[in-house]
Amino acid sequence: MLKREKKLEREIALSRIEKLIEMAEKMKFEDYELSKRCVTIARKIAMKYRVRIPKELRNFCKKCLYPYRHDRMRVRVRKNRVVITCLNCGYVKRVPLKKG
Ligand SMILES: [Zn+2]
Repeated sequence: MLKREKKLEREIALSRIEKLIEMAEKMKFEDYELSKRCVTIARKIAMKYRVRIPKELRNFCKKCLYPYRHDRMRVRVRKNRVVITCLNCGYVKRVPLKKG
C-alpha cells in the first residue's frame, strides 16, 4: 500500500514538474528571472520526490538553472557532439550526436 502511494506521489510530482517547465518555456523571453524560478522549483520537486526530469524537458542550464535561450547560449557542433555554452554562467554542456 505504501508503495502505491509513493508511486502516486511521484506521478503528481512529475506532472507538477512538467507544468513548471512548460511555464518557464513560455515566459523565458518575457521574464527570464521568473522563468528561472520555475525551473528552480521544478528541480526542488524532482529532488524531493526523487524523480528524474525527463530529457525532453531538460532545456535549461544545469548549473545556473536559467532556461536556454538562443541569445543566452552558444551552440557549436564538434565532431560527434553538440557543445552548448551557457552565456549566463559559462557552463558547458556536451550532447553526443546520435549515430546514423
Ligand atoms: Zn548557466
